[in-house]
Amino acid sequence: MGCACASAQRADGLAALSPRPVERERVYIVISPMQPQENVALAPLTTFQIGGPARFFVEAKTRTEVREAVSFAHSRDLPLFVLGGGSNLLVSDSGWPGLVLKIAIDGIDRHPGEVEGKILFDVGAGESWDDFVAHAVSSQCAGIECLSGIPGCVGGTPVQNVGAYGQEVSETIESVEVFDLKDGEVRELCREACGFAYRSSIFNSTEHGRFIVLRVTYALTPGGRPHLEYADLKRYVEGRASAPSLVETRDAVRQIRARKGMLIVEGDPDCHSAGSFFKNPIVSEEQHRDLEKRAAAKDLALPSYPALDRRKKISAAWLVEHSGFHRGFIEGRVGISTKHSLAIINRGSASAAEVLALKDTIQMQVDQVWGVTLEPEPVMVGFQ
Ligand SMILES: Cc1cc2nc3c(=O)[nH]c(=O)nc-3n(C[C@H](O)[C@H](O)[C@H](O)COP(=O)(O)OP(=O)(O)OC[C@H]3O[C@@H](n4cnc5c(N)ncnc54)[C@H](O)[C@@H]3O)c2cc1C
Repeated sequence: MGCACASAQRADGLAALSPRPVERERVYIVISPMQPQENVALAPLTTFQIGGPARFFVEAKTRTEVREAVSFAHSRDLPLFVLGGGSNLLVSDSGWPGLVLKIAIDGIDRHPGEVEGKILFDVGAGESWDDFVAHAVSSQCAGIECLSGIPGCVGGTPVQNVGAYGQEVSETIESVEVFDLKDGEVRELCREACGFAYRSSIFNSTEHGRFIVLRVTYALTPGGRPHLEYADLKRYVEGRASAPSLVETRDAVRQIRARKGMLIVEGDPDCHSAGSFFKNPIVSEEQHRDLEKRAAAKDLALPSYPALDRRKKISAAWLVEHSGFHRGFIEGRVGISTKHSLAIINRGSASAAEVLALKDTIQMQVDQVWGVTLEPEPVMVGFQ
């Protein structure tokens, strides 16, 4: 589908952004009738279950409430943090000194008819991501079935271009409706404007802190076949007489995730995490050769996958495991999941400082053994 905004060129470097504001009201003139709560514990709002309180907290169910909350933060000169499902965060022990704005805009609206063979779904940023996947799959629409079971809300998915088992949301996101904190306008950004790459977009890089995601439009394929490229998933469906349906693929993905502690399951202590704590490093051919040599010296074979621009993606889990950290590793109140070596877990009442200490130890050790600096995936909130 064509990009409505790719041709917009502006002198201020916003060439990729849509020139098309969805509405023209400015935020800063709104007088806020809202009453945010004070000193709200953030730990229960995160999957890590760690972190101090928010000085102010508000939940916004509509664009107007988002606007009011932003106005409140501006009027008091408070730093603003936008919260989704809290599944990709490490909140500091001192919490957040300003306003935490939880986006709770709901709704799944299916456009009538098809556009270039796709069905468009407009989804509120506060909808549960996995509920939307379930909805899409049961509507026989393909494109996100491998992303089943990822916790969090729809608004969080474009931020780090969520991906798993061979799919990324960048492949199906048609556009993202945002509130632009720079000028108080609501805009629609096309896929190209979002600058998607591996676990990255403009929302967590070049334009970090500028946009609040309000809605996301996904273009899915009606009657499409499930994407079965990933080795784990292929193995799971091997030997079947017929190809699995979208619903069966979703079930398989959720079962595989549960085995790895990557599905939020009530009572599973391995779920008190932010998922994978480190990104898979992408290295140059030269670095890759060096890593292969180091691995060969230890009688190991380095698992790697092709990445863009003649680079290679290395498994961060493998690097962690071959640097002395096994699944089930314990360090006081924190540790590594018994099911996945990339998940740092809260073993009960852990502090953010303890998580950071373990993160530092792992990074240091991997660097020493492999010469690779692992980059954390979760967003650090409220650290000085
Ligand atoms: C068990 C487990 C498994 C996971 N598996 C995967 C996986 O397979 N693949 C993967 O990619 N990720 C995975 N994750 C990480 C996480 O679930 C995703 O990154 C998710 O999309 C985060 O969404 P959220 O709503 O929880 O965002 P939050 O954690 O609340 O926020 C994350 C970041 O997004 C920003 N944000 C959230 N909502 C908005 C909004 N509406 N507007 C602007 N900014 C916003 C926040 O400010 C913050 O910077 C996993 C996490 C866990 C705990």
